[in-house]
Amino acid sequence: MNDECLFCGIRDKKIPSEIVYEDEHCLVFKDIHPQAPVHLLLVPRKHIASIADLEAGDEKTVGHLIKVAKEIAAQKKLTGYKLQFNVGKDGGQIIFHLHLHLLGGFNL
Ligand code: 5GP
Ligand code: ZN
Repeated sequence: MNDECLFCGIRDKKIPSEIVYEDEHCLVFKDIHPQAPVHLLLVPRKHIASIADLEAGDEKTVGHLIKVAKEIAAQKKLTGYKLQFNVGKDGGQIIFHLHLHLLGGFNL
């Protein structure tokens, strides 16, 4: 739990967002500034700052995000897509609550 964190605020429904999927481990919502026709953010419920901050056991959470991304992409009939983690300021990370970008729909 992190009171200052935007994505914890979205998780706790204190900050509005367009959530498209939720389960006990993660939530998925639309990026507010989409960089592709489909641009979703897959966010673990657990506050982990970034891939660089993973602790023992967190690999299950990250694996789950990838599995959910695959399922959502299939549901949306995306024929190809990009999955991206930005890691650290120098890696373009702005929000320090781990998230996986799902970018697709380039052919729509
Ligand atoms: P990063 O650069 O940290 O990997 O990506 C953060 C992403 O969060 C950016 O693509 C940005 O557009 C998105 N974002 C920032 N603020 C908000 C917000 O308040 N709501 C939503 N839905 N997305 C946001
Ligand atoms: Zn957080």
